[in-house]
Amino acid sequence: MSRSEDLFKAAQTHIPGGVNSPVRAFKGVGGTPVFFKKGQGAYLFDEDDNQYIDYVGSWGPMILGHAFPDVINAVRSVLDNGLGFGAPTEIETQMADKVCEMMPSIEMIRMVSSGTEATMSAIRLARGYTGRDKIVKFEGCYHGHSDSLLVKAGSGALTLGEPNSPGVPASIAEHTITLTFNDIDNVRQAFAEVGNEIACIIVEPVAGNMNCIPPKEGFLEGLREVCDEYGSVLIFDEVMTGFRVALGGAQAHYGIKPDLTTLGKVIGGGLPVGAFGGKREIMEHIAPLGPVYQAGTLSGNPLSMNAGLAMLNALTSTPGIHEGLAAKTEYLTEGLKAVATAKGIPFTTTAVGGMFGIFFTDQPEISSFAQTTACDTERFGQFFQGMLKEGVYLAPSAYETGFMSAAISEEDLDRTIEAAGRVFDTFAKK
Ligand code: PMP
Repeated sequence: MSRSEDLFKAAQTHIPGGVNSPVRAFKGVGGTPVFFKKGQGAYLFDEDDNQYIDYVGSWGPMILGHAFPDVINAVRSVLDNGLGFGAPTEIETQMADKVCEMMPSIEMIRMVSSGTEATMSAIRLARGYTGRDKIVKFEGCYHGHSDSLLVKAGSGALTLGEPNSPGVPASIAEHTITLTFNDIDNVRQAFAEVGNEIACIIVEPVAGNMNCIPPKEGFLEGLREVCDEYGSVLIFDEVMTGFRVALGGAQAHYGIKPDLTTLGKVIGGGLPVGAFGGKREIMEHIAPLGPVYQAGTLSGNPLSMNAGLAMLNALTSTPGIHEGLAAKTEYLTEGLKAVATAKGIPFTTTAVGGMFGIFFTDQPEISSFAQTTACDTERFGQFFQGMLKEGVYLAPSAYETGFMSAAISEEDLDRTIEAAGRVFDTFAKK
């Protein structure tokens, strides 16, 4: 028995399912979750001392690889001063200034401790600001697990086949209108019916929780137009895309200015952080300036702020970082596709900046929830397991995006593509 198997067994005694977040349980791919003990650069090391090339990067924040020295040193430098005061610190202002500089649509920002808190708070703010209750989200997009947003959700909820969760009161879920991602006509139709009651649209500008689905041309522009027409707030959930698909996030990549943006993961450099921010006029409705209440004991804590700021500084001081990520991502997806095609495996990929999707399907292009859920998830599970044995760690679900890191070398990419070829060969024999 491997140490991971032993540890997983022990974990299940007092932890539901043995994990603290469902997708870690490998339900979508089968087998035993790998227990890790160390990350260094492009690699993860498990409790059995196996090494893996990591394409998850803690679900996004490790853009520069694991244990990135600037981030680790930033945390070390403040450790001896104490872990938190629940009171203002200078670093919070430095962090706010940095994010506003990198994402100019953000004029004011509030720090929280997770992506879930960020989106939940942004929704409350949009409702408080507009005086409306209804919100629009898209099927297969995931915005954390708050009540209003856990409706037809993606990510682990979709992997487990539970996109609507028991425990969310129908009286809350009824205010959430779920529409079809990449279908602007569907959005216009909903707004024509009840647009004046809709507080906001929340969207992942590149969907990363139903695998990776880029926006169709005109979709994000259409959302902007509809929100302007009906006085609704446009929220880009950039918890995944922020600082990953471009320095200024998906909003910079596609040139669309949302009213509010939610952030997470990256701005903690691996420590728990989230944030929401946007137009000053809207943000001024947040307490203590305004009546919409939102708070957090650990919000803006010194460790997370120092780690996050070091990460953002490293990103802005590394010229061409996002071009490099995009080039590596394309090299990988094109390489995988070429091998799959040569071996007669129906296979499609998507890629935006440092995010990518791999789909076992004969559909040439994937742009919708219906298409992604029609892909062969069983084959994905086989691929995942095969790659794991080859020392490549992919997201353990067919409904999660892949994450590229700057620490991954060309040699790592070649090793990954060669490994995929060997795994594809095992399919052919079946
Ligand atoms: N929004 C998006 C787009 C996400 O991908 C996630 C998490 N994967 C969240 C929100 C929730 O963030 P957290 O897990 O930090 O609560």
